[in-house]
Order: sequence, then C-alpha cells, then structure tokens
Amino acid sequence: MDDPALDVPLALRDLIGSEVLSDFLRTFHDMFGVGVRIDGPDGATFSEACEQEEICGFVNTTPGGRAACVATVRTTRERSLSRGAPGAVPCFTAGRYRLGEVQYDGHVLGRVVIGPYLAPDRTGAPQTLFEADPRIDTVRALPLLLRMPRLKEASAERLVDHLLHILEGLLFAGHRALLASQMQIASSRESYRELSEKSRQLTAAFERLQELDRLKSNFLATVSHELRTPLTSILGYTEMLREGLAGALNSEQKEYVSTIHTKGEQLLGLITGILDLAKIDSASVSIDRSWVDVRALCHDVARSFEPHARKGDLSIAVAVPRDLPRLWTDLERLRQILVNLVDNAVKFTPPGGAMTIGARIEASPSDDDIGLVLTAPVQSRIVLSVADTGIGIAQDCADRIFDAFYQVDSSSTRRFGGAGLGLSIVRRLVELLGGRITVQSQPGEGSVFEASLPLEEPEGESRA
Ligand code: ADP
Repeated sequence: MDDPALDVPLALRDLIGSEVLSDFLRTFHDMFGVGVRIDGPDGATFSEACEQEEICGFVNTTPGGRAACVATVRTTRERSLSRGAPGAVPCFTAGRYRLGEVQYDGHVLGRVVIGPYLAPDRTGAPQTLFEADPRIDTVRALPLLLRMPRLKEASAERLVDHLLHILEGLLFAGHRALLASQMQIASSRESYRELSEKSRQLTAAFERLQELDRLKSNFLATVSHELRTPLTSILGYTEMLREGLAGALNSEQKEYVSTIHTKGEQLLGLITGILDLAKIDSASVSIDRSWVDVRALCHDVARSFEPHARKGDLSIAVAVPRDLPRLWTDLERLRQILVNLVDNAVKFTPPGGAMTIGARIEASPSDDDIGLVLTAPVQSRIVLSVADTGIGIAQDCADRIFDAFYQVDSSSTRRFGGAGLGLSIVRRLVELLGGRITVQSQPGEGSVFEASLPLEEPEGESRA
C-alpha cells in the first residue's frame, strides 16, 4: 500500500517499548553483574541498567579523575564503530567498556555499551590512575578497583553479540506490530476517504434529484392548470349543446355530444388528480384544521355515493360509534381521502356487493417507542376504514397501489377507468395529516383500506 504512514524512518522508540527494554536490560545486569546501556544514534542514553562502581565514585572526587571519567564516557558514545574499528574502550581506572552497533534492516539505530569490567588477571592499580590526578590515593583505590566485575575480553565480546541478537528479535517483533498498526491506519484512512467521497456524490445526486422533482412538480402544476381552463369551457359548451340551448339535436348528435362530455369529464378528473399530486409534492398544500365530526362526515360521504351505489346494485353502510370523539384535522382533506377510497370501492366491487365506511378509536404506543411497548406512552388514534366485497388485490401488488400511475390491471383492455392517481393522493394526504394508510385484501373477497390518524389535542383548543 502506498501510504506515507508506512514510510517513516525507523527509530528505537517506535520499535520497542521503553518498559520492555529496561526490563530486559535489568535482567541482563542481574545475570552478568555488569552495567549495560543503549544509546540512540545521537549518542543520548535511550535505556540503561547499571550501578556506579565504587572505584568510579572514588576517582570522581578529584577534578582530574572526573575529567578523565567524562572523556572515557564520551569515547564510548562517540567512537566510530565502522568495520575494523576496535569494539572496546579502555578506561584510565583499568576497567573496560565493550561496544556494539544496534542495526536493524540496514539502519543503524544506536549502540550497546557494557562495562566497566576488569580483566580477570588484574591485581594492581594502573599508572593511568595516578596520571589522571596525582591526588588519587592508589592505596585506597586498589581494593575498590578490585571489586569491579571481572570479565574476559572474549566473554565481553560474546555477551555484546548475544545482546545484539536478542535486541534484533525484539526489534523485529516491534517492527511487525508497527507495520500492522500502520497498515490498519492506512486502510482505515483509505476507507474513510472512499466513504466521504461516496457520501459527497450521494448528497450531490440527492440534491439534484430533489431539484428535478421540484421542477417536475412545478411543470405538472402549470400544465395541468393551463389544460383545466379550456377543458372547463369545452364541458360548459357540450352541456349547453346537450340541453338544446343552440337548437335541438337529433339522437345521433346527442350521443356524440354526450360522449364528448363524458370523455371531457374523465380528462378533467385526470388533470385535477395530477394538479393535486403536484401541489402536494411541491408542499404548496395548506392544512386548515378545525374540530371535525368524523361520524357526520362518514354519513355525508355515504349519502353522496348512494346514487352510484344504487346504479351498481351495491349496498353502502356506515359503522361509526355515536361517542366517537371529534378529530382536530382538515375537513376537506379528510373528505377527499374518504371520497377517493369509496370511489375505488364502488368501482372495484361487482353488482350485489357491499361497502362499509367505518371509524373507531384505537390506543397504541406511539411509533417512536416501538420496542418499549410496556413503558411507552399510549397514543390514541382514530382509524377510518373503507371496506368492500370487491375483486380484491393480490399480495404482491398491495404495496405498489399507492404509487402514482400504478394500476393492478394496466392492460389496454382493462375494465375499470382511472389513471392510477387516486391512492397516491390519498397516501400523501393521510401523511400530511400525520397519519398512515394500510390495506388488507384477498383477491376475490374484498379489501379494507384503513387510514389511522393521531387524536392529538391542539394547544389552546378544547375538545368540548
Ligand atoms: P385508479 O383507481 O384510478 O386506477 P388508484 O390509485 O385509486 O387509481 O388505485 C390504483 C389501483 O389499485 C387500481 O387501479 C386498482 O388496481 C387497485 N385498487 C384500488 N382500490 C381498490 C379496491 N377497493 N379494490 C380492488 N382494487 C383496488
């Protein structure tokens, strides 16, 4: 993966935790009794485990001894370890330090230093001790010097090699973990980038679709309005012709004019439907709420359909309890909902069938609290229903009948008129009034449409 996060220069502190390293060095010190230090490439101490040797403390009390000591430590930090350079640094006390280069994957990450240690055969104080500062009392210094840990040079060299070997293993494990976490970060960044880009594209597409939808609704509203005006005139004139206001018509002429009138009315119904839908979609429909007597409205709608029902040999009944509370809603929108549903019931019920307009009160937990049924506040609703014993709707079509222009029978030879707009208008109106519409149906047995509307109490308005 090509990511800058994977291309950072390696450093000790990135590959190995300081606690792990200091534990490891402490164990090394406890096992071999000799001090150990790891420096970074800049010479600064990265980690160490050592105790000051008594001889070191002693020589440090004199200025010359202190200066010689500092010079030795500086040499252990700065001595070049390139091929062929000696890996040991002698100290003026006769102690020695052994150095080794910490390398990983071709990079120099620092150096290990072990010491000071004394050759096993050393018995006397060296001349260099006195040379560093004549005030150093070599008689007092000798027993302190001889307490320094003893190590053969070859053993010190092997110890440094082992140390470097183990360090390499620790660095490898650390590097693997570092790469894994960096790859994870890089892939999360990549996924985030992709998701952000997709989300940006979706937002842009959504805004574009919203704009197109708005333009479509405006276009439909304008066109429908412009079509309605001349069509109303055509209907007016055919009515006048039919009534003989322009002279008597023979029976054939009367039949033609009647056909023009009927088709014109169908066209007007379609245009009105499109106009209604466009208005609702462009949110230019206003809701005018008042207290509505739902029972009276159901009887009113049933009465207005009685002539139609009689013509189709259908019975129409109303089933609404007398004590149904009034509903704070838009009377005309509610009437439009009922009229559309009853109109369909009349249309899709064969002669001899029955229709019932009903309303009932129902208490259910509010939609927001589904899942908390026991504790959710109970919300009352009025459920309006229109049931028929008509042709019914197949299950796989039931969800789609609320889509604009959808008709179960869309063939050119279909028996029933209409443009497939009624139910889409009904659904939008019910939702506009804060409710939900559903349908239960069995092909050949009939359908029940139910619009459930919240029985909410408006602020400052009294039901009584
Ligand atoms: P339209 O009645 O103009 O076709 P609607 O949107 O009112 O359009 O209805 C869509 C379709 O749903 C209808 O064409 C019909 O197939 C089906 N439908 C609606 N109401 C009923 C009903 N009461 N019984 C059977 N089918 C129905």
